Amino acid sequence: MSVQVEQYKAILAELHQVTLVAVSKTKPAEDIETLYRLGQRDFGENYVQELLDKQAKLPTDIHWHFIGHLQSNKVKYIAPFVYLIHGIDSLKLLKEVDKQAAKCNRRIDCLLQVHIAQEETKFGLDATELAEVVSALPQLPNVRVRGLMGMASFSEDLAKVRTEFASLKKMYDRFAHQSSDWNILSMGMSGDYKLAVEEGSTMVRIGSLLFGARQNKA
Ligand SMILES: *Cc1c(COP(=O)(O)O)cnc(C)c1O
Repeated sequence: MSVQVEQYKAILAELHQVTLVAVSKTKPAEDIETLYRLGQRDFGENYVQELLDKQAKLPTDIHWHFIGHLQSNKVKYIAPFVYLIHGIDSLKLLKEVDKQAAKCNRRIDCLLQVHIAQEETKFGLDATELAEVVSALPQLPNVRVRGLMGMASFSEDLAKVRTEFASLKKMYDRFAHQSSDWNILSMGMSGDYKLAVEEGSTMVRIGSLLFGARQNKA
């Protein structure tokens, strides 16, 4: 069995007031059921088709978090049920979520993804783009932006990772006054969640520590 049940319980016990999103991408539905039976309801997925397949066969009270890079043309497939979209990295994408949410007669919760890593490859808004998106929110009544999401550099240099998390927390605090909906800071993965929590994370996204290593999806 690849699900690390003891590890799951240990992580839950050390997180106080921090939501654990169990990142189940590439893992079978049975692994999700194992944690579901222990009470876990928040699961994170990165790929639209895989999420649709799992959503169709798993319990309806699961909170599905979309944490991957979302293409605008795929928003319509997840709009009816997605619980929180973590990776909003352009105004264009947020406008499409707003449009699809209206069609479903719902408001969709979203996080704005900020580029904090020094690496070039990661998606996300810079500080200027973030301010632009925030100022457009009054025109997007069908989305509710709850806060920010970010990924630190994949690095052994813990001081660097900590600095990146701290910079995200700073941006999060800067916009916190703009609405009472703003109360989620999604940062921290298997390798760096402890640091992230120390720096103010309210939501961690943990995959491999719970479900074992993944095969790379090429
Ligand atoms: C895959 C993924 C995670 C989980 O990564 P682990 O290192 O396995 O914990 C978290 N966040 C995002 C955005 C991911 O793509």
